[in-house]
Amino acid sequence: RAKELGRNSVQFYAPEMNARMLERLELEAGLHRALEQHEFLLHYQPKVELERGRVIGGEALIRWRHPVIGMIAPGDFIPLAEETGLIVQIGEWVIETACQQIKARQTAGLAEVSISVNLSGRQFQQENLVQLVKQALAQNDVAAQHLELEVTESAIMQNPERTIAILRELKEVGVKLSLDDFGTGYSSLNYLKRFPIDTLKIDRSFVRDITSNPEDAAITNAVISLAHSLKLSVIAEGVETEAQLEYLRRNQCDQMQGFHFSRPLPPEDFAEMLRSGRTLALGQTAKDEKTRTL
Ligand code: C2E
Ligand code: MG
Ligand code: MG
Ligand code: MG
Repeated sequence: RAKELGRNSVQFYAPEMNARMLERLELEAGLHRALEQHEFLLHYQPKVELERGRVIGGEALIRWRHPVIGMIAPGDFIPLAEETGLIVQIGEWVIETACQQIKARQTAGLAEVSISVNLSGRQFQQENLVQLVKQALAQNDVAAQHLELEVTESAIMQNPERTIAILRELKEVGVKLSLDDFGTGYSSLNYLKRFPIDTLKIDRSFVRDITSNPEDAAITNAVISLAHSLKLSVIAEGVETEAQLEYLRRNQCDQMQGFHFSRPLPPEDFAEMLRSGRTLALGQTAKDEKTRTL
């Protein structure tokens, strides 16, 4: 009886596992095809500086337009791309495409903003990351200061010595570097001081309850002071409400990104936003600040 049950449960689970493996294989094959068939695209989420409310940059976020499923978010395919190593080729495509689109906006006469691109830990294991970045900039005639690279603590800590050395080289090329999802990784402050970064990005998980949870508020304030003491700028991600925005502004956060201002946009819509010169609707105090001579 027990044997029978055991066999049954094997029979019960086995097809499901096969289905999952099949799904994985299909997904992997799909990622290869996506590269060949140009199914990836970049959306851009505006970055806004809080003092005057202007758009000063954008984060490039990859999407996969699957011919059958439709639009797929990076959370559903980047982990597998990292596991299989395909992220290296996908990452190359992202860097190259971001540079092409920076150039296209410059040619169209739009305000020059800096565009950030996310890097996976895996990309620091490839031989030629620095070369690749240099090439993408040179071939598209883009100045290095217009490109920013976002890297997480966890990505750096996969191989800290090597990654820090590469980050230093990238810094010499002139690109900006930011530490993404700050506070969720496990790097020590001892490492932090060795990262040649320009900006700390406060993770969305701290911002979410910033106005109701004193711990999150305290952590956020501590990160802001830490960043400023280290002469870094600080940006908050995932800002969804006016109250969060006001809190961050009052506490000297430099920049923010979030649905409150804009969702990630297709390149045409991001360009349109830059063209229209849209700014953050500022409160009265901020409006006063706006008229201040700098
Ligand atoms: P991330 O770099 O931390 O990007 C921020 C994510 O938060 C984006 O999700 C963005 O759409 C989302 N977000 C922005 N504002 C808000 C908000 O106000 N509320 C909420 N709930 N979410 C907000 P997305 O585009 O799904 O990307 C998820 C992650 O995938 C990224 O996290 C990044 O780690 C990774 N990713 C995206 N594009 C790339 C890429 O080109 N290469 C690599 N290696 N990773 C990428
Ligand atoms: Mg990011
Ligand atoms: Mg982030
Ligand atoms: Mg995050």
